[in-house]
Amino acid sequence: MNGQKKVILECRVNEYAMRDVNPHVPWTVQELVDEAQRVREAGAAIMHFHARTDDGAPNNRPEVYAEIIERVREKTDILLLPTLGYSSNDDDVRRIRLISRLAERRQTKPDIIPLDTGSINIDQFDAASGTFLCADAVYRNDTATLLYCADEMRARGIKCKFTCWDMGFVRRGVKLLESGRCTRPGYFLFHLTEGPHITGHPATPLAIDALRSVLPQEDCYWSCNCMGGNLLAVAPHVLANGGGLAIGLGDYHYAELGCPTNAQLLERVTALAREAGREIATPDEVRAYFHL
Ligand code: ZN
Repeated sequence: MNGQKKVILECRVNEYAMRDVNPHVPWTVQELVDEAQRVREAGAAIMHFHARTDDGAPNNRPEVYAEIIERVREKTDILLLPTLGYSSNDDDVRRIRLISRLAERRQTKPDIIPLDTGSINIDQFDAASGTFLCADAVYRNDTATLLYCADEMRARGIKCKFTCWDMGFVRRGVKLLESGRCTRPGYFLFHLTEGPHITGHPATPLAIDALRSVLPQEDCYWSCNCMGGNLLAVAPHVLANGGGLAIGLGDYHYAELGCPTNAQLLERVTALAREAGREIATPDEVRAYFHL
């Protein structure tokens, strides 16, 4: 991907989203296998997913993740970026136990995993009642834990994506690259937040530019997602400035657009990319760029 960087599209298909607003959130193994093919056809190079039970609860059983990854790979060449699948503040070994299990076999080894490069208050604010919904919730990612995960992933040949809630997260990700603990080029996800989610930068051009301002010019790729809000509003700014996009029903139901599917969201994004004169990266191009 020389010259002007192509657009890497990641689809964040489900997170822990329920179907009360948008019924198109994939949960089961079969639904995720089908969704992988649909979002790949619609332009995504990477699928980020969480395994869920039939009623939408988190399902952190390694054999379920293994089945999803193996079956998706039989159908499509999309890159797979599963969640780490741990309870927020598990100790270091337990945090990556799922990924370590999946990495034992080539057929189930994840391509990329997310590392949140800092700690946050992960609460939400309910504007209607004026209350904080989870006032005691802290998501802890101290640097020692990040280094442990980075070393384990490097040894297994799995790429770490840096999920960045604010500028400090970006700066720490840069140091993980400079120290050689994570491999270049860096993949930075600017985790913008809207709606009830008050931790993180808002989805505005100014806030995105602040995050970009601490990234080195070389050997870094940045993308944006938006938890709790409409990413399409800032997508033209992202595309005009060389970034990628990570969109999906996991972050937001897009009710104002009539509750589209993940593939329909990607079709909107690829249309915006065309308008911006940017090409979409294929999974093979992303593999080559990140040396996967
Ligand atoms: Zn996730």
